[in-house]
Amino acid sequence: MPKQATMDRTSSYFKRNLETAPRKKRIEYLNRKLRGIIQYAYKHSSAIRNKLDSVGLKPQDIQAIKNLEKLPITKKADLVELQKKNPPFGGFEGVPINELRRIYVSPGPIYEPGEKEYDEIAWAQAMVAGGFRPGDIVINTFSYHMVPFAYMVDNSLHRIGCITIPTGVGNTEQQVNILRNLKVNAYCGTPSFLLAIGERAVEMGLDLKKDLHLDVGFVAAEMLPESLRSKLEDMFGMIICQSYGTADIGCLGYECMNKNGMHIPDDKIVEIVDPETGKQLPPGKPGEIVATTFSRVYPLIRFGTGDLSILAEGLCPCGRTSPRLVKILGRVDQVTKVRGLFVHPGQVDEIASKHSQIGKYQVIVSRKEHKDGMTFRAELEEAPPDEGLKEEIEKTIRDIIKLRGEVQFVPAGTIPEGAKKIDDQRTWE
Ligand SMILES: [Zn+2]
Repeated sequence: MPKQATMDRTSSYFKRNLETAPRKKRIEYLNRKLRGIIQYAYKHSSAIRNKLDSVGLKPQDIQAIKNLEKLPITKKADLVELQKKNPPFGGFEGVPINELRRIYVSPGPIYEPGEKEYDEIAWAQAMVAGGFRPGDIVINTFSYHMVPFAYMVDNSLHRIGCITIPTGVGNTEQQVNILRNLKVNAYCGTPSFLLAIGERAVEMGLDLKKDLHLDVGFVAAEMLPESLRSKLEDMFGMIICQSYGTADIGCLGYECMNKNGMHIPDDKIVEIVDPETGKQLPPGKPGEIVATTFSRVYPLIRFGTGDLSILAEGLCPCGRTSPRLVKILGRVDQVTKVRGLFVHPGQVDEIASKHSQIGKYQVIVSRKEHKDGMTFRAELEEAPPDEGLKEEIEKTIRDIIKLRGEVQFVPAGTIPEGAKKIDDQRTWE
């Protein structure tokens, strides 16, 4: 049995130089990498060449992150279309197909050129920030079929010096036995699958803290509500950090142990943009996550993830100087513009979370006499409502959405199961 990691998981010794470099140095580094990949991709990827040509730009017109605004955003749906016209990769590949090690297939279907040597450092940075250390014995429960993520995780664990057990998803009982027999101390997978493993282990009569040895968990590919995180951390007596990314472009954010947003890794450029104009937004404003990678195999430039987030620039106590994605607020297609301002489901949830009396809730957007109206409908857990509750919620709406909204209490059962968080009922006649 290999010796297990005994070092302090919160220690900072494992950080790379750039992670704690001054902001200015970081931006200079990213601009330099950006110029390099634009030059390379223009030469080697027909899709990137077409993208620059379509707006009359040459590689030298992109000198810095700000210049990326001049380029159109490529969305997932565009990838599918471009791949149909120009199979298999839509011209996005940056190396000849015979130099690839793997070809991945993601839902869509989207074909992804796999690495020859895996050189993305971001997921490894993510795991180290979440407490993974050399010598950890890890189950990797992400699927090893078709999609790239399990391989990204596998390669990153190897980079750190962890020992990987490639279990893939499913076979819950067997996974429990593996955890016990091999004294596995680290988990990679979705939070919901970790919960399933924990519940099965309890059914099998195990004491999760005594019979199993999980210390750290790296979770991704699903939303992680704080309630689920604390439940899992308590169940297993472990630390769980989450990361965010996509199969196409890899890791775009990772939590450190302070769990106050997701640090942007060193080998990506992440912009938060206005979904309508594609212009970059300052920290604190919600917008679409648009990313650029430095991968020469698959050089996606200005790839629109369709996910919404907010950038935070305040310094993190961990010492990393990268900006952070506050959290994933939802999908761009769930956003509604009300009186010129974007309103997204994450804000609606936030309003509800501030008032414990609210049960089910929904925002209705309407239009009367050429004016947008916004009504927050709520079913209350306990009737009758406290004096002044309506006014309090109205104030919360102003604080969070920066718009005035009406509050309406409705009887239990009014808001249907699975109702849209923001129901846009406007007609434009
Ligand atoms: Zn941090």
